Amino acid sequence: MRRLDPSVTTGGSDDSPAECPYCGSTDTEREHPKGPSLCRSMHFCHGCEQPFERME
Ligand SMILES: [Zn+2]
Repeated sequence: MRRLDPSVTTGGSDDSPAECPYCGSTDTEREHPKGPSLCRSMHFCHGCEQPFERME
């Protein structure tokens, strides 16, 4: 049984896949950033085949 460590936060790593906001899958692919919004990244979910944005 594992306890959640409040000092551990997710995000910040390019190696970790983004979680799909629609189906919760991490089978996602990061697409090349385009446009001036560097604080956002585009991802594509292979689970539900939906593109989604994630704030960096
Ligand atoms: Zn999905």
